[in-house]
Amino acid sequence: MRERDYYELLGVPRNAGEDEIRRAYRKLALEWHPDRNKSPEAEQQFKQVNEAYETLNDPQKRRMYDRYGHVAVGEAERRGFEGFDSSGGLGDLFDAFFGGVTMGAERGPRRGADLHVAIALTFVEAAFGVEKELEVVRSELCGRCKGSRAEPGTSVGRCTTCRGNGQLRRTQSNLFGQFVQIVPCPTCRGEGQAVQTPCSECRGSGRQRRNRKLEVQIPAGVEDGTQLRLTGEGEAGDVGGPPGGLYLTVAVKPHPLFRREGAHLIYELALSFPQAALGDTIPIPLLEGGTEEVKVPAGTQTGSVLRVRGKGVGDLTNKHRGDLLILVRVLTPKHLDGRAKKLLEELHKLLGPEQAR
Ligand SMILES: [Zn+2]
Ligand SMILES: [Zn+2]
Repeated sequence: MRERDYYELLGVPRNAGEDEIRRAYRKLALEWHPDRNKSPEAEQQFKQVNEAYETLNDPQKRRMYDRYGHVAVGEAERRGFEGFDSSGGLGDLFDAFFGGVTMGAERGPRRGADLHVAIALTFVEAAFGVEKELEVVRSELCGRCKGSRAEPGTSVGRCTTCRGNGQLRRTQSNLFGQFVQIVPCPTCRGEGQAVQTPCSECRGSGRQRRNRKLEVQIPAGVEDGTQLRLTGEGEAGDVGGPPGGLYLTVAVKPHPLFRREGAHLIYELALSFPQAALGDTIPIPLLEGGTEEVKVPAGTQTGSVLRVRGKGVGDLTNKHRGDLLILVRVLTPKHLDGRAKKLLEELHKLLGPEQAR
């Protein structure tokens, strides 16, 4: 399997800054999120994009990746234990350079998987932020055995597969000759010890599925499709390994009066022709409730925009509220009774056609 280059995946140059990488990631994560994108390759793409971001966003991992490529970064985590059987990959080349010890064979607990949850917000909640209670089903370390997989009080014996070493040596041949690969023992997961009496609660898995209620603070200014990451709220990792992250994808319900453009709110105001021509003061509804008197100047044209500063929505980045933009539409009367028609005809005679411009 050929791994795609992380920079290529995110569509950024190799000297891209943190911000550029983050922006590229956000865009792609939205595009490929399995909840939004139903194409069959979406899940795989989404995973790859996340993987690329996790590496390039971490200065140390990025340095390793820049020097050694995919082999250097979380090999064991990505390929799983079975992966080491596929010979002929980059791993073998890497062995050739580094005296036969694969970086990925490094022992240690694995990080838990990420969880993805969609959350529905009202327009107002998204604009001003809200605290939400969220229910997730996730695996956690077993409360009885604390993830050790053994019944409390029972002894843990030496693993028979690796004879307690926690590692297995594998000899592989390729074009460059023979290489010894050291891989974590799949039976004991590198711990060197095996459970004699499995925990009665989790039946030796070390984990339990739990329904968890989480209080989540949604910041002001999130939009439909915004993704939030809660570190450490995903699936449990191995004992000693960190849990995965919880990704929240926001879905925002539309509002009957307002729509959004970033941090600005758009409100459409219909004016009669006399109102637009003579000017008026009109109470405009505000998203937070109540109204604001807005002066419409005489001679206002259709398509013009009136602005109420600071009455838009919160902004994730600069913490300022955007503006309320009032988009004016001047209505042309459709059904005129006799008197209105007469008045308009008089007006027409008075102004003449050149006034229309
Ligand atoms: Zn247990
Ligand atoms: Zn073992």
